[in-house]
Amino acid sequence: MSQPVEKGTLYVISAPSGAGKTSLVGEMIRADHRLGVSVSHTTRPMRQGEQDGINYHFVSREQFEAMILRDEFLEHADVFGNYYGTSQVWVEQMLARGRDVILEIDWQGAAQVRRLLPDCVGIFIVPPSAAVLRARLTGRGTDSPEVVERRLSEAAEECRHALEFDYLVVNDDFGEALSELLSIVTTQRLRMDRQEKRHARLLSELMDSGRQE
Ligand code: GDP
Ligand code: ADP
Ligand code: 5GP
Repeated sequence: MSQPVEKGTLYVISAPSGAGKTSLVGEMIRADHRLGVSVSHTTRPMRQGEQDGINYHFVSREQFEAMILRDEFLEHADVFGNYYGTSQVWVEQMLARGRDVILEIDWQGAAQVRRLLPDCVGIFIVPPSAAVLRARLTGRGTDSPEVVERRLSEAAEECRHALEFDYLVVNDDFGEALSELLSIVTTQRLRMDRQEKRHARLLSELMDSGRQE
């Protein structure tokens, strides 16, 4: 008989816009094939280079509001004047199949997920300074000056919620931040509540091993 699949771990990653969360998460899922990232729904306009269904599911406000009424979101929030939300069915199916899932969402969504799924692991990413955040958001070249200013003015509010998360990663050197994030994932997988089920046979063999002598 096959063993029941062990549920995956849910990671909730938040950061002020421009801290590097999307780039870091992209590299995390490339480095670790047991990780998957949830593709959110959003009403914000598509940026140059973005693809529907890859970066986001881009929908109208009407479509988004109909999804809210049908209760299709695990969480949703208004961020910088646009709606963003996470598909409940997708996340639950992936976790049930034993996959680890990353949500890249804002602090309001993180608070909703924490209430619903208290076992989730929260990670907050910050830039090394406010000046670097400004330089990254401007340097990314994807948003108008007005949008950049709005995101910078909301960055302080996002950071006021950092202490609600379990881990803090400073994204100064990209490679170092990536390796810290992957270490958090490894640490979670080594926790006794996970390992005792995974290695139940080994543990019982070792516990009984003295009896044969
Ligand atoms: P970027 O993070 O600067 O690349 O800009 P985006 O427009 O892609 O995202 C803006 C904000 O929306 C970020 O703070 C994200 O964390 C947040 N966000 C993205 N997807 C979701 C979601 O599904 N739910 C919630 N609550 N927030 C989201
Ligand atoms: P977020 O998803 O948090 O808004 P992005 O992943 O889009 O952030 O990163 C914002 C910009 O900063 C991008 O142009 C990215 O290439 C750059 N960036 C990310 N991490 C670093 C880093 N450690 N050093 C220098 N630039 C970085
Ligand atoms: P984007 O800016 O489109 O999110 O990132 C483009 C690619 O460059 C992605 O593969 C991303 O992970 C990577 N990347 C972004 N910023 C850095 C960085 O500062 N250092 C390194 N090594 N890679 C980066």
